Amino acid sequence: MADCIFCKIVNREVPAFLINESENFLSFLDIYPHAPGHSLVIPKVHYQNFQHLPKELGEEFILVVQETMSILAKALKVDSFTLGINEGKLAGQVIPHFHFHLIPRFVNDGGGSIHAVVFNTQGTSVEEIYQRIKNES
Ligand code: 5GP
Ligand code: ZN
Repeated sequence: MADCIFCKIVNREVPAFLINESENFLSFLDIYPHAPGHSLVIPKVHYQNFQHLPKELGEEFILVVQETMSILAKALKVDSFTLGINEGKLAGQVIPHFHFHLIPRFVNDGGGSIHAVVFNTQGTSVEEIYQRIKNES
């Protein structure tokens, strides 16, 4: 996609600190890291988000994520990561080219767990939500 910064990284039109590469994926350091080694894994083809990623790429995607984790773990001496996707605008997705965040975690880094992202149950019970899901499936 012409105006996409991540497509430009894939096409080597914009530089990036590359960590790992496979046939269909690339990983590189995030330019505004939230921790040393904060990295992104992206598909080389422009898919808007995780929901658009073809299932056939699933295994290769997992492999590149795991390899990138191993590289970071060895170099930075870490064994903990926060892994995640900001899927869609409301979840904080800024760049509409699917990307998976790998954030190494360090002792006393002041961060929280993934539960810290949001706490907004809208007053609904788990039973109520389950019923809504079942009614639609
Ligand atoms: P999002 O909020 O969309 O999940 O995250 C986008 C991420 O891309 C951010 O963490 C941001 O720092 C990173 N980013 C934005 N522009 C660039 C860039 O030009 N190069 C690299 N390496 N990372 C970028
Ligand atoms: Zn793109």
